[in-house]
Amino acid sequence: MKIPFNKPWFAGNEIQHIVNAAYSGHISGNGAFTKKCHALFEEKYGLLKCFLTTSCTDAFEMAAMLIDLKPEDEVIMPSFTFVSTANPFILRGAVIRFADSSNNLPNIDVDGIEALITDKTRVLVVVHYAGVAVDMEKVMALSAKYGLFVIEDVAHAIDATYKAKALGSFGHFGAFSFHETKNISTGEGGMLAINDPQFIKRAEIVWEKGTNRAAFFRGEVDKYNWVDVGSSFLPSDIIAGVLYGQMQQIETIQAKRVEIWNRYHAQLKPLADKGLIYLPEIPDFATNNGHMFYLLLKDEEQRNALMDYLNNNNVHAVFHYLPLHKSQFFQGRHDGRQLPNAIRFSETLLRLPFFYELPIGFVDLICSKVYAYFNIKF
Ligand SMILES: *Cc1c(COP(=O)(O)O)cnc(C)c1O
Repeated sequence: MKIPFNKPWFAGNEIQHIVNAAYSGHISGNGAFTKKCHALFEEKYGLLKCFLTTSCTDAFEMAAMLIDLKPEDEVIMPSFTFVSTANPFILRGAVIRFADSSNNLPNIDVDGIEALITDKTRVLVVVHYAGVAVDMEKVMALSAKYGLFVIEDVAHAIDATYKAKALGSFGHFGAFSFHETKNISTGEGGMLAINDPQFIKRAEIVWEKGTNRAAFFRGEVDKYNWVDVGSSFLPSDIIAGVLYGQMQQIETIQAKRVEIWNRYHAQLKPLADKGLIYLPEIPDFATNNGHMFYLLLKDEEQRNALMDYLNNNNVHAVFHYLPLHKSQFFQGRHDGRQLPNAIRFSETLLRLPFFYELPIGFVDLICSKVYAYFNIKF
């Protein structure tokens, strides 16, 4: 049997919540489970206002609509990220200025951002890669100095903090993902957190296809009408039921994932000490939320060789992002700047199997295979 890279896990109550939603008479969006999820996230993570969406991609689209992003507006974001961080802005005709990663972590090089800001820059997107926080004090200082909206991509970073405050609560917006590959999963799903009060009223309208339906159901208006642009961002309450079931067990899920991460780290540390591999160091201001375990190899050739070795030995290990500035779609649009760290992380990073039910014995087995590749006794 090959050890898979990822395996979704139901924590216990999800099926019951699906059944309850199904019999409640309200299975469309913004039902009882949706409201429970919003309240839970707002309370637990200090988010001002939450809106469940059908994906993190959708959360970004909703944010781009809310800030009225116009063609030619510029958006700065790391090149080393998923396409969903970029697509929603491209859809609105914006110009993307990709930034490099820092030297020691795949996260955006915060000190390189200022040089990319022009008078057209309106948005700064940061991705907390592998759940490790970007330096949000520096990011918010740039935001204040240049009047930029900050959107945190928290797809990897649920339950992680920067200086003890939850990620997703710093930027004007936080975009969450509950895709199958994330710590908390509904298959497909996402959420937009809004931390700037000026956007809340309009968000409710944009979320509900540009109508004032929510105000109508609260009895604030006597007809519901088309009042603004919008889209259909709401997931059904069945999905929200799954999310609520997952969130009821978040403590258990996170504890287990961090245990798996720590075991990988402890077992592989001797190889890092010998200089054969490099393991990420988590800055003091950040926490580890057990989203993923990766190691870095000395070059692409060695990374691919180890990846092939593991895959031939029943361990599904995978690389990660291809830098977006080099992508087939974007190449011709890029301004030609070299982004060497993004390329290096793309070439040398290898992710190991990581999921809730991965037995610690399997972590040891996987590590023993990494040792075997280097011909070192485990
Ligand atoms: C998964 C992911 C997304 C997209 O999430 P969806 O919910 O699939 O739209 C965006 N950004 C990053 C960094 C991701 O890992």
